Amino acid sequence: MSKASFFTEEHQMFRKTFRDFVERELRPHAEEWEEAGGFPREVFSRMGELGFLGLRHPVEYGGLGLDYWFTVVFAEEMVRSRMAGLNMSIAVQTDMATPVIAEIGTDEQKREFLEPAVRGERIAALGITEPDAGSDVASIRTTARRDGGDFVIDGAKTYITNGTRADFITLAVRTGGAGFGGISLVLFPTDVKGYSVGRVLRKVGNHTSDTAELSFQGCRIPARYLLGQEDMGFYYIMQNFQGERLIAAVLATAGMQNLWEEAVEYGRERHAFGRPILKFQVWRHKLVEHLTAIEASRRLTYHACDLFARGEPAVREISMAKLYAADLAQRVVYDLQQFYGGAGYMEEYPIARAYRDLRLLTIGGGTSEVMKEIIGKCEGL
Ligand SMILES: Cc1cc2nc3c(=O)[nH]c(=O)nc-3n(C[C@H](O)[C@H](O)[C@H](O)COP(=O)(O)OP(=O)(O)OC[C@H]3O[C@@H](n4cnc5c(N)ncnc54)[C@H](O)[C@@H]3O)c2cc1C
Repeated sequence: MSKASFFTEEHQMFRKTFRDFVERELRPHAEEWEEAGGFPREVFSRMGELGFLGLRHPVEYGGLGLDYWFTVVFAEEMVRSRMAGLNMSIAVQTDMATPVIAEIGTDEQKREFLEPAVRGERIAALGITEPDAGSDVASIRTTARRDGGDFVIDGAKTYITNGTRADFITLAVRTGGAGFGGISLVLFPTDVKGYSVGRVLRKVGNHTSDTAELSFQGCRIPARYLLGQEDMGFYYIMQNFQGERLIAAVLATAGMQNLWEEAVEYGRERHAFGRPILKFQVWRHKLVEHLTAIEASRRLTYHACDLFARGEPAVREISMAKLYAADLAQRVVYDLQQFYGGAGYMEEYPIARAYRDLRLLTIGGGTSEVMKEIIGKCEGL
């Protein structure tokens, strides 16, 4: 596996440091936190204290101002935690809810929201999806009405990661007329009157992340919490989705690689009919087919990362990387679970958890069908 071209010695040193952290401070808790259905809030502050929550955020606001390949290393090593839910919660904090603040926020907004998020003191969520609007972002109905120097917000969001304990939400609201032109982004502190967390949703997998319904009833926030320009929110959301989808492709590909390596280890030890199961040609071939596809996924993902890191247009490539990695993960995890036999069905083997967790990949952050629509549009189809 050659990755050398994109990674310098500094990236590899960071990989080692961060891998040590994940293996020492996160992975040992995987079973306990999966069972508990969540992880302690202190994980945010600990990771913030070590600088891990602000890798690519500006130095003026507590970040490290590092290039995008450090974020790639970060995501690749996070999967070693074996907690897809925790990984998603952290990715929401670092790469989904906060990059837009760094990009278009005012100095005041960055001091109030970005800086404490980088320190891990304030937990962030991204609130876009609503009960009646998921893929079709342009039809969200949560409204923000101007009233003097405030916005008054009414509506509901659903499936929100970090929803139960977010201290603020990067929130999509309708400030104008119908359609994509009437949407804005605001920073919403969750200690506002009229805000409440509804049901905490029970999920198929990703058990270490909390996912909730949120309700807004006459919530008043100052108009200075508007992010960027009014009614330009749809454009910002689509921009922001690029980083979200790219990190999903990196997580998916690294996750598959880890599962593959663990399966090979298992296949060397487990015997049937007098030989290691790895020695059955049918499995060797299947494993090699998957390794080849994982390598292809990584190359496509790195290509998209490279464009993204250099600020080049990358919507087509990011959508392809997300689509390819997410779909491939379904086939890889299915076959690897089969390879483990009965053990693959047991909770004590990470492959069983991965079977549930990886299912999210073709749905969250834009479904595979939506990725195909975007790629089709890029091709003028
Ligand atoms: C665990 C989890 C965590 C999440 N976290 C967050 C979060 O933190 N913040 C947030 O805002 N959202 C979050 N989401 C929501 C997620 O982004 C949406 O579920 C996703 O975008 C799909 O929207 P939907 O569920 O409304 O499906 P729908 O839009 O109702 O789609 C249903 C089906 O129709 C298909 N479809 C829709 N449009 C088209 C089309 N144009 N062409 C072809 N097929 C189409 C879809 O592909 C899908 O198969 C989360 C979801 C999950 C499951």
